[in-house]
Amino acid sequence: MTIEFIDIGANLTHESFDQDRDQVLENAIAAGLDKIIITATSVDETNKAIACTDLNPSLLWTTAGVHPHNAKDTSNDFIEELEKLAMHNKVIAIGECGLDYCRSFSSPERQRTVFEKQIKLSLKTGLPLFLHQRDAHEDFIAMLKEQSVNNIKGVTHCFTGNKNQLKDYLDLGLYIGITGWICDPRRNQDLLQSIKYIPMDRLLIETDAPYLMPKELEKELKTRRNEPKYIREIAEFISSHKGIKIESLASTTKINSENLFRQLLN
Ligand SMILES: [Zn+2]
Repeated sequence: MTIEFIDIGANLTHESFDQDRDQVLENAIAAGLDKIIITATSVDETNKAIACTDLNPSLLWTTAGVHPHNAKDTSNDFIEELEKLAMHNKVIAIGECGLDYCRSFSSPERQRTVFEKQIKLSLKTGLPLFLHQRDAHEDFIAMLKEQSVNNIKGVTHCFTGNKNQLKDYLDLGLYIGITGWICDPRRNQDLLQSIKYIPMDRLLIETDAPYLMPKELEKELKTRRNEPKYIREIAEFISSHKGIKIESLASTTKINSENLFRQLLN
């Protein structure tokens, strides 16, 4: 029997898939992908992502949100637009949203304003947050705590942090999304330390395709473009480090995905 996976984060509207998106989806299904959640990063991209779900409605869902890099380009009423899009039955989370002080393409102030509105939209709609954080841990946790009144639901996508940061997320009740970052020997040290402390019922897996191609595969296949079909590589890596079978990792992360993103069950 094939093992079924849910990829909770793939940037399928990315231009690198424009030539062969149908084939990428077929490959994903052949590799055992049961569901894929498209990551949206702006209001325009959310519209594109919703249209993209038509390619295979039983496979595809999407988030609706504005990435911190794109905070600078938001209109004054972007949140009303997002709220309308969030009503679509294919939209199952608000994001990706959060703070990124690593590259600061948008000013930290603007990022915080745009993030705060999306946290409020999550609470208003009941849709969980799909969260992005880089080099902004303190502000990020402070904002979630301030807004949430402990009601926050969501996943911190592409978690790469250490044990202390992990504890902050777990204390907020968040799920933890792990990408192919964990397969990169040059930068996975923190994550390898913290992965053993991630409770199995909070773990989710994601490719972040076309980004973060697992390093071994990149060498072997001589391509840097990641695809949902490579989720197995990430699952194998995590299961070997947690000392569990890949079957059980796949089924647990699938159940976790459906617990967080309730609409996957509709
Ligand atoms: Zn991200």
